[in-house]
Amino acid sequence: MARNLTLPVPGVDPKTLQDTFNEAREGSRRHEATDIPAPAGTPVVAVEDGVIKKLFFSVRGGNTLYEFDPTQTYCYYYAHLQRYAPGLQEGQTVKRGDLIAYVGSSGDAAPGDPHLHFAISKLGPEKHWWEGTPIDPYPILTGKEPR
Ligand SMILES: [Zn+2]
Repeated sequence: MARNLTLPVPGVDPKTLQDTFNEAREGSRRHEATDIPAPAGTPVVAVEDGVIKKLFFSVRGGNTLYEFDPTQTYCYYYAHLQRYAPGLQEGQTVKRGDLIAYVGSSGDAAPGDPHLHFAISKLGPEKHWWEGTPIDPYPILTGKEPR
């Protein structure tokens, strides 16, 4: 797994990010993502070329977006979004760095703590956007070796 991804919130210093992939969340869940704090309304961009597979609202994630990479090997998940980029639609092809959404605190994020919740999963053979094997985005986004 050596993906070269663009930081989904431009302007954030990767050195300020923390690896919370294995942190416990409510119940027995693990976080399995990287949180990128930013003011509400900050642009969120595609981490690489791909297709917008699903725009979905969930209680925990709020406004969420699922992007598949061009080989349909990986799914990129963006959550707690304030809103999507104007006109964004499922099935749309995007390029790395394209504006896709804005940072917010929808779902179970605290209103005073807007951030992008970003996750990566390796898709199974059926290519379902809702299931896959979680991969820690932190070493990829920060250029650090996995621990
Ligand atoms: Zn999170």
